[in-house]
Amino acid sequence: MTLMNTYAQLPVAFETGEGPYLQDTQGVRYLDALCGLGVTSLGHAHPTVTAAIASQAGRLLHTSNLYNIPNARKLAKKLCELAGMDAAFFCNSGAEANEAAIKIARLYANQQKKDGGNIIVFEGSFHGRTMATLTATGSRKVQAGFEPLLSGFVRAPYDNLEAIRTIAANTGNIVAILVEPILGEGGIVIPQNNYLAGLRKICDKQNWLLMLDEVQTGNGRTGKFFAFQHEDILPDVLTTAKGLGNGLPIGACMARGQAASILQPGSHATTFGGNPIVCAAALAVLDCIEKDKLLARAELLGRRMLEGFEKNLKGCNQVRQIRGKGLMLAIELNTDCPNIVGQALNKGLLINVTQGNVVRLLPPFILKEAQADEIVATVSQLILEMA
Ligand SMILES: *Cc1c(COP(=O)(O)O)cnc(C)c1O
Repeated sequence: MTLMNTYAQLPVAFETGEGPYLQDTQGVRYLDALCGLGVTSLGHAHPTVTAAIASQAGRLLHTSNLYNIPNARKLAKKLCELAGMDAAFFCNSGAEANEAAIKIARLYANQQKKDGGNIIVFEGSFHGRTMATLTATGSRKVQAGFEPLLSGFVRAPYDNLEAIRTIAANTGNIVAILVEPILGEGGIVIPQNNYLAGLRKICDKQNWLLMLDEVQTGNGRTGKFFAFQHEDILPDVLTTAKGLGNGLPIGACMARGQAASILQPGSHATTFGGNPIVCAAALAVLDCIEKDKLLARAELLGRRMLEGFEKNLKGCNQVRQIRGKGLMLAIELNTDCPNIVGQALNKGLLINVTQGNVVRLLPPFILKEAQADEIVATVSQLILEMA
């Protein structure tokens, strides 16, 4: 009797962590340039977050949403202020945050008596592994074998405003667009400048909801608190999760204007969502990002690492493109690189590959310059050795 075989795992287990470092059961130390998939952005065992969790754990973990939860109200206020949104619903993961967004869109369509309540979603996108979110996801690999999928999703190419205008001109049954500001699992694909502003304009004209999936790009990862803040727009619905609790499982679906009051008692709920302990962690995370000026730090470190890669890998014929925004960085290679994660592990560095040929880095915001440089040097060397 064991775990279900859902993960192809690397042969390593970690026992402790401190800042950007993890230590395995053999006592070997690793520099963590992945943060458990963009989660532990403040590093491991962050003293402020640890203290907030410990203090809350000693008083109260959970009461359920049958009762008022002051931590959840406090967090909703803080997060909505940072996002320019009106209201938040807390859940336990990115997929659940997107489920809430999808349910808001469907209810909104039914209230408006819109036909169909279809949601435009994108090729190459990733929104989670529940039935609705895997249907929304633009990857056949994620969907294969789970048919029948849900109806009510319309697929469009990413970073192509003309395609959305064409859908608008030809279909009357759309209620919302669900989109990542940068494709994360899809390979750190950064759209043209003002792509979101273009989508915003179409949504305004068509009376569609613009729903942004910032599960990966949110909470400071790209150098702004949310990635849409690089452009002068606001979404109607906004989801986030990964970095919000620095390792405690919390997701959030926020909304603004009309969309903020669509869910009412009885229409959506979760037992654990927004409980005192996860909210205490998230409040501490937001506090640290603000007090330690980590948005500016992510932006600065990101630029430094991007420039480092550009310098080290200049003219390398293995490299198709180097790209990044804040501390969301990728080196797309010309061929698949199935061995590079293991080779990095052997050098004491944790990295990730997505789409087979995209080396993905999601390092913590608390890196020292020398640690950022070490990541760049090690990854560059591994890529150069492939050539
Ligand atoms: C990881 C991710 C999700 C899914 O989050 P889970 O917490 O794994 O359910 C959804 N959307 C995006 C953009 C993600 O990166």
